[in-house]
Amino acid sequence: MEFRPDHCPCQEPKCAGSAGFQYQRRGHYTRACDGRRVQRFQCKACKRTFSTQTFRVDYGLKRVSLDVKIFLALISKVTQRQIAKTHHCTLRTVARRLDLFGKQGRGFHEWRMRMRGIATPWEGSSSSTSSRPSSTTAA
Ligand SMILES: [Zn+2]
Repeated sequence: MEFRPDHCPCQEPKCAGSAGFQYQRRGHYTRACDGRRVQRFQCKACKRTFSTQTFRVDYGLKRVSLDVKIFLALISKVTQRQIAKTHHCTLRTVARRLDLFGKQGRGFHEWRMRMRGIATPWEGSSSSTSSRPSSTTAA
């Protein structure tokens, strides 16, 4: 399946407000970390270039090979300190991945809730029943 960008990643008003987003292909490059071919694009409004990589969750990360290892360790309840020691990275690397996985998971959950027509995601349980979201379905 071919990737088609649906918006310009620059987030400037002239690009964000325009209804018809137009771009053109601008070559490609090969990722050094895994040899994957990455398509480049150029926004016709602001002339900025971006790529399929710009929209990926691992955009800007240095050690992409650690992502799966850190994720599997985190869901196995391994401490962040132990993960850093095992995979020869800093504690900060593990902490940033944890934050990234949390944001990505939350975004995916919110997207799935919108797909199902549920307006707000569930914020978790609490002791009082009045704190539950009152409007769980979209009008
Ligand atoms: Zn643009």
